[in-house]
Amino acid sequence: MSQSTDVMEKIVALCRRRGFIFGSSEIYGGIGGFWDYGPLGCELKRNIKEAWWSDMVRNPPIGPKGVEFQMVGVDCSIIMNPKVWEASGHVGGFSDPMRDCKECKLRYRSDYLIKIFLVQVDEIPKESTIHSALDKIAGKTAAVSLLVDAAPGTSAADHGPAIKRAMGARKVQIVTIPQSDMPPFSLIYWIIDGKNYFMPSQYVGTSMKDMLNCPNCGGELTDPRAFNLMFQTYVGALQEASNIAYLRPETAQGIFANFKNVMDSSRVKIPFGIAQMGKAFRNEINPRNYTFRSREFEQMEIEFFCKGDEFCKAGEVTPIEWWEFWRDVRINWYKSLGLKSEHLRPRNQTKEELAHYSKACTDIEYLFPFSDEPQELEGVAHRGTFDLTQHQTHSGKDMTYFDDETRERFTPTVIEPSAGADRFTLAVICEAYSYDESRASPEFMRFHPRLAPIKAAVFPLVAKDGLPEIAEPIYREIKKHFPAQYDAKQSIGKRYARMDEAGTPFCFTIDGQSKEDSTVTVRNRDDASQIRIDKSRCLEYLREQLRL
Ligand code: ATP
Repeated sequence: MSQSTDVMEKIVALCRRRGFIFGSSEIYGGIGGFWDYGPLGCELKRNIKEAWWSDMVRNPPIGPKGVEFQMVGVDCSIIMNPKVWEASGHVGGFSDPMRDCKECKLRYRSDYLIKIFLVQVDEIPKESTIHSALDKIAGKTAAVSLLVDAAPGTSAADHGPAIKRAMGARKVQIVTIPQSDMPPFSLIYWIIDGKNYFMPSQYVGTSMKDMLNCPNCGGELTDPRAFNLMFQTYVGALQEASNIAYLRPETAQGIFANFKNVMDSSRVKIPFGIAQMGKAFRNEINPRNYTFRSREFEQMEIEFFCKGDEFCKAGEVTPIEWWEFWRDVRINWYKSLGLKSEHLRPRNQTKEELAHYSKACTDIEYLFPFSDEPQELEGVAHRGTFDLTQHQTHSGKDMTYFDDETRERFTPTVIEPSAGADRFTLAVICEAYSYDESRASPEFMRFHPRLAPIKAAVFPLVAKDGLPEIAEPIYREIKKHFPAQYDAKQSIGKRYARMDEAGTPFCFTIDGQSKEDSTVTVRNRDDASQIRIDKSRCLEYLREQLRL
């Protein structure tokens, strides 16, 4: 077992044991891709959503060149008129190609199934050849350095992990065959490691489909079929085509559909943003990596409306500057809540990955322990005027904006920072997970104080001798202001351990000395250090330390 798999297993076990995350409907064997948050998890996720709403909507940052802008929120229905999803392109295009194993019935995203044939060669190909090869295979040139780093002195099959990294952790089967068995080919894939390898081009992409077998059991796979990711239901009594509706696969469309309502009712002026957080549903083919890819999840999305380039006067903030601004704001927000810079990576989507209407998109990625490659937490996209234009065309309603100062009418350009509340919650949990063998309770969660589900605990050392009488009023005072817990059971070591696992930053303990000099101990979660303070200062001390 690799070290990171081991860490992930420990995290999952702790989350279950301490009530952060449970499998949905576990008593009936669960259901793939659905998760429940327990008492600690739901507080953590609530703190995350509140931090986002507070920092992005109620008190948004100041824009480039000192431009202040308004942000407002909406909370739209999950089921909308299905025409919304025709306009957005989800009915026609929101699908993944999928293949089923005829034997074991496992289902795969066909673009994640790539069989690689490597053959050893003497000549090192040119840099440009490598790039075009990797573009073709993985759609990202970032793979080059990873491949170059592959360990020397190994056989082609040993490069599996490096290749998987390069392919973004996709399912890869690796087979080596002698060069003499190959038909004529062009060189398209290689690894430097003292030995050089190539991959014949006819084995890339669709031409490989006939050679693939199930990576699980070796069984035959069906041809790829488009699989729409939207959950379908019926509205009304009759289950007929005219009553088909969908659970929303993203919150963004509720914002676009209400663009006019918000403009007319809130007197917002461009540039401004509309935010929404709420549930979204996608019938993902392979839900995996714990809550990372779920079928029901929560999004935190902003649609930010600004002037397109052609309407910007000299010195005004351009759409690309707004896009850069939001990208930086969002990365810094993750850092401000405790994600380490070295675990975060902004990755610009390549031309091939960009949607046809999108001018630029950065994925903000986080290095989760379950993968060697950072994975998407949020996408910050420059979407041009695509969405509003689509809704104007499909609904026949005017989606333009009239600028009273310049007397110009135009369709606003949209910048979209689209984040996942569950993915960030998982990143926060992974980042917080700490293990220190020298501690009495080695596992502890180093949550940022703002996100910690419980901010303080109050313990009478023993549940007698007048100690509860001192502890209870302290607890009652603290819990008026911060989520707090009172615990008088078991040894003090066990109580600290429980709070360490919950990630509680401070524990106040009332002991024999408290009766003599009115002091209590405060224990700091991160270094387990203890100091004594006057019992009247507990709340004030917490406020200073948490700076909340
Ligand atoms: P991915 O490529 O990982 O499927 P995506 O690019 O389809 O994600 P978007 O449509 O841009 O994702 O959705 C915006 C955000 O919503 C993502 O950055 C992610 O945080 C969250 N999200 C999307 N799909 C899921 C999912 N299945 N489970 C949990 N969160 C998700």
